[in-house]
Amino acid sequence: MGQTATISNGALAEALFMLADAEPPGDRRLALLRAGYAAFDAPGKARRDLLREAPHWLKPLISQLIACRGEDALQAAVQRLQGGENSRRRPARQGYLSRAEMTEVLKSGPEDLHPQRLRGACHWHTRHSDGKASLETMARACGRRGYAWSMVTDHSRGLEVASGLDREGVRLQRRRVERWNDQHGEEHRLFQGLEVEVLADGTLDVPKGERLEIDCVVAAVHSQFDPDRDQTERLLRTIQTPEVHLLAHPRGRHFHHRPGLKARWETVFSACADAGVAIEINGFPRRQDLDADLARLAVEKGCEVILSSDAHAVPHLEFDAYASAIAMRAEVPRERILNVLHADEFEVWLKR
Ligand SMILES: [Zn+2]
Ligand SMILES: [Zn+2]
Repeated sequence: MGQTATISNGALAEALFMLADAEPPGDRRLALLRAGYAAFDAPGKARRDLLREAPHWLKPLISQLIACRGEDALQAAVQRLQGGENSRRRPARQGYLSRAEMTEVLKSGPEDLHPQRLRGACHWHTRHSDGKASLETMARACGRRGYAWSMVTDHSRGLEVASGLDREGVRLQRRRVERWNDQHGEEHRLFQGLEVEVLADGTLDVPKGERLEIDCVVAAVHSQFDPDRDQTERLLRTIQTPEVHLLAHPRGRHFHHRPGLKARWETVFSACADAGVAIEINGFPRRQDLDADLARLAVEKGCEVILSSDAHAVPHLEFDAYASAIAMRAEVPRERILNVLHADEFEVWLKR
């Protein structure tokens, strides 16, 4: 049995998700979903863990899938298990890297895009919105991870589920950022970003006067995904708002749940390049937004790129590895990536 005969974690996960899709809501469906996520997130070939944690009735089925030689055999097994039904991968699961795949890409890709070769950690959250740790804890963790600077990007108040920052909250956080920079800025420089809401018409939930008080205005769509509506005009209005620096997770997709915004991406990316708005490759595993295909297109259109973890807790900072892997797949040139700048250079970029 050669390497090529074994199925990947990504393919195994997809087989489990397809079987889950065919089940009515209930325990069976939940167990299949859980096993699917476990395979998707498993480092390397962690098949034994997957089997150990599955309920008894599910073990023979997983063994059967794992024993398949190659993806055609796996597809046939899924079809058989569904009683002859031929199912398709949901659009909301297309174009994602499983953890095992991400690790492979990192190992074989150009070293200069590796997270260890980046200088700045962008886009992370604190307890000031929906993060789990304090500003200082997150900043120290970024420093330990080898970053020379980092940028907090808590949510603005418009995102109610994340209990975001109002103007007073932004100012209080600003003081803590300044205090950090007074005490530790030489070793690790902190920038203050704010992840602001793109409203249905493309305007932002934070008024201009407040936007000007923030180092980096990060625009992001978290609502009104309306899959039938082309959202190009909405995004263009956001991009052409002068204070916007970065368009975060541009598609707003979410693994298994939401395929993301429909837009004429060539037009969107060209507008970003013209306006000097950078495009994010968000490494949060359930987002991976942009994916490699769209990231390649963004680079072709002349965009600058920010790699980010979208960490909501210290362990999430390692999701920068997914962003790096996607950038490697998309062959993003290092000089287009803003995370490689020195803190002073990044400051100049922010103030341009
Ligand atoms: Zn977001
Ligand atoms: Zn975020």
